[in-house]
Amino acid sequence: MYKFPVDLSQLSCHTLPGVGKQTAQYLSRLGIYSVQDVLFHLPFRYQDRTRLIPLCQLIPGEYAVVEGVLAAVSMPKRGKTKLLCELCDDSGRIFIRFFYLSPFQRKLLREGMRIRCFSEVRYGYHGLEMFHPDFQIIKPGKEIPVDESLTPIYHATEGISQHVLRKISGHALAMLHQGGILPELLPPTLLQTLSFPTLQEALQFIHRPARNIAIEQLITGQTVFHKRLVFEELLAHRLALLQAKQTVQQQSAIPLLSQGNLAAALLKQLPFVLTSAQQRVLAEIKNDLSLSSPMLRLLQGDVGSGKTVIAALAALQAVEQGCQVAVMVPTEILSEQHYRVFQHWLQPLGVNVVILSGNVKTTARRAVLQEMASGEAQVVVGTHALFQQEVEFCRLALVIIDEQHRFGVHQRALLRDKGASQLDCPHQLLMTATPIPRTLAMSLYADLDCSAIDELPAGRIPITTLVIPQSRRDEVISRIREACLAGRQAYWVCTLIDESEALQLQAAEKLFAALQRILPELTVGLVHGRMKAKDKEAVMHAFQHGKIHLLIATTVIEVGVDVSNASLMVIENAERLGLSQLHQLRGRVGRGNVESYCVLLYQHPLSAFAQERLGVLRETTDGFKIAERDLELRGPGEILGTRQTGELAFRVTNLLRDKDMLPAVQQAANVIIRDHPELILPLMLRWLRGVLQYGQV
Ligand code: ADP
Ligand code: MG
Repeated sequence: MYKFPVDLSQLSCHTLPGVGKQTAQYLSRLGIYSVQDVLFHLPFRYQDRTRLIPLCQLIPGEYAVVEGVLAAVSMPKRGKTKLLCELCDDSGRIFIRFFYLSPFQRKLLREGMRIRCFSEVRYGYHGLEMFHPDFQIIKPGKEIPVDESLTPIYHATEGISQHVLRKISGHALAMLHQGGILPELLPPTLLQTLSFPTLQEALQFIHRPARNIAIEQLITGQTVFHKRLVFEELLAHRLALLQAKQTVQQQSAIPLLSQGNLAAALLKQLPFVLTSAQQRVLAEIKNDLSLSSPMLRLLQGDVGSGKTVIAALAALQAVEQGCQVAVMVPTEILSEQHYRVFQHWLQPLGVNVVILSGNVKTTARRAVLQEMASGEAQVVVGTHALFQQEVEFCRLALVIIDEQHRFGVHQRALLRDKGASQLDCPHQLLMTATPIPRTLAMSLYADLDCSAIDELPAGRIPITTLVIPQSRRDEVISRIREACLAGRQAYWVCTLIDESEALQLQAAEKLFAALQRILPELTVGLVHGRMKAKDKEAVMHAFQHGKIHLLIATTVIEVGVDVSNASLMVIENAERLGLSQLHQLRGRVGRGNVESYCVLLYQHPLSAFAQERLGVLRETTDGFKIAERDLELRGPGEILGTRQTGELAFRVTNLLRDKDMLPAVQQAANVIIRDHPELILPLMLRWLRGVLQYGQV
């Protein structure tokens, strides 16, 4: 036994009875390391095993606990059933089928034995049946009480059964009751105003709810016990973000007070004028840059809204003052494209733009690093290669991160550390096409100021989206032929979700060969993630310059790629992609002023749910609306692309379900900062273990 009090967040789950090395390793896959983690691994479903149901009252389709005597046991010669039992009580009978049994179990099940079973009741060949129930032998004269609480069902993983998880959570609860410490981190006044139970009460309830609670309320997280935990988690996130913001604000930055001559020169040279939305956000950014505290601004703008030119104009503000700018993007293809665009725009103004990506090697790389360290390089475009250790800037004053949702929070922090001096923190401009519904933005980006380009450049013709089955592929191919012969260009995006990258590649290569054969009159190109950077760039360059009509691509072209003459996009297996991802892909067309089409190819038959999802894309091209619908249909992880970044790893919160709590959480955060600052760190440690980098951003 342990000497209590002991801190359960520090106590390894290894110390729980029945948790050996192997089990501990399985548990780690569920993110469970400490006893506290066990307690925060909440059930997502429950079963009611608290009542014995007489056999005559069984209802097919419902789960039930029944008890009776085995009246007959037989081993059918045919079929899958290994053992068929007839179970009787005073009121009726039911048949029980087993498809596999260990010899040990087999021996237990003999005629005359009294057993208790739990499973779903179904209609079968002989009447009511149960398949493979959980069963228990009742020894004569030994009454076993039924469960007093509902039975929790946990997310499990290979190697760990529900039975084990239940035992472990039972032991962890026992420790909690025996004085194990899991500090209450919500102040009593707050608990009182919100009528919340204590942490211990909440955990006890959620793991072992009383039998009279409606299961529906439990699984939808509607009980005050769930809400209390969600509230605490949201509060921890909020506090972490506010603290991150404060850390930045306490630092100083180089105020960029340039006249704007270079920016004016660029504007004059552009073939278009800025939209009023672009002008507005540019003014906001300029103002931030002129301050001596670092800018931390998120620029949201739907695909094609023209964020790149804003980035270039902001960069010029720094360059004009003799400072350096880093532009970080998530993919090689995008870095090469941005490099070309920035060069095209800035070189005529005498600005030195360089590129540093993972693929710039040896001599060239050394030369670039040298130019960066000496300050000769004024604008550096690159991938995450930008924040490697040997990379040094001379006078870095502005960091621009495009498609920021693709980066983890800590990567941002690393680049920031490359600031001009120990004292100065660079200004940061984060850009994203991922439209974040307001409620989410508030809680996710409390540390950022937000600007939005809420208007597309004039003259854009909305993209027409078609949802077409694979069986009509030939028509789609003819359409491509027509469009390309008329001087347009097209993308064909080959996706295979859940399959390896190698398979995705294979599919793309096969398609490439097939389309080359079917469309001999067109030049077909292929681009994918595994190509050498040089080859990739050559293909993209050729496509950009109209030398390739049809570009077969994997999802590498998902972000940022900008070729305005491309007006047709085909997306294969569209039903398997997330809406926001489809919207991003579709955003590669409709960038010029010709009518564009996006064809979503699907495998027949399409489920009603998939129909509804693809229907959303057909109905609207508004990224915000799509995001809202996506949120409703799939939950926030999808929209925010957090699977890649892990930026938003909530444990008990479901933002869509719990978003109404956000205003109260904000208020509570302010109260904690004012009256209970000592709770901030413990709250963050409890809830943000994986994301603690937040504190440094
Ligand atoms: P995104 O916001 O998706 O990054 P881009 O910056 O790539 O969009 O812009 C899409 C295209 O629109 C580019 O070719 C860009 O030059 C062009 N563009 C940007 N602003 C305007 C504008 N005000 N009027 C017309 N075209 C514009
Ligand atoms: Mg872009």
